[in-house]
Amino acid sequence: MTSEIDIDRFARHLVLKEIGGPGQQALARTHVAIIGAGGLGAPASLYLAAAGIGTISLIDADTVSVDNLQRQIIYRTGQIGTAKAKTAARALRALNPGTRVKPVVKAIDGENAKRLIGKADLVLDGCDNYETRYAVNAACLATGKPLISGAVGRWDGQVSIFNARPEAPCYRCWVPQTPPDAETCERVGVVGALTGVIGSMMALEAIKHICAAGQTLDGRIHLFDGLSMESRTVTLDKDPACPACSGQG
Ligand SMILES: [Zn+2]
Repeated sequence: MTSEIDIDRFARHLVLKEIGGPGQQALARTHVAIIGAGGLGAPASLYLAAAGIGTISLIDADTVSVDNLQRQIIYRTGQIGTAKAKTAARALRALNPGTRVKPVVKAIDGENAKRLIGKADLVLDGCDNYETRYAVNAACLATGKPLISGAVGRWDGQVSIFNARPEAPCYRCWVPQTPPDAETCERVGVVGALTGVIGSMMALEAIKHICAAGQTLDGRIHLFDGLSMESRTVTLDKDPACPACSGQG
């Protein structure tokens, strides 16, 4: 499949040697599934639609609430009560009519995860709970799809890409079990701008992966501390006892 590239719209990509025409074509051929149209999914989906991704499936069962607006900047006050996936899809289509957007108003779980991410080439997980992260991780391992995972809380965030290769670590090599001190943003809070930083990093990793540009976070975790403005990147090894991927290696 070849796509007509809008050379005016993507002029700033086309001059980059790491993207250029071939990279822009690759972006246009790619189908990305985004789990969660919230603090991470909102900026990630906006940047990916703007970047010319061919198809975006946006999976979220929630409706917009007033306390979302502090960080989920794809929504407007007048949209409180509407289905996030559908409302966000309209914003993405308005931003770039060339991107096909498929809103999926469903909660993703262990039963439906493989089906819901079915046709995607790449999955971004910006959900807010471990149960969903594990279900998405398992579905990506089972289908061989790369998974870009982001998480935020308070002033901190982390991002990585798990490539579903037999020798590569998966999300659960990093977090084998739900941590006993697991806390939700609802309880501990989160700065809106921080979700923008991490969501944008997820989009950046997706673009690099698709265009084979530079070094992605494959086998590494990037940790960002917004309060001290320090970040570090740690290597992550495959866990031979991982409950999700140990049978693969
Ligand atoms: Zn694993």
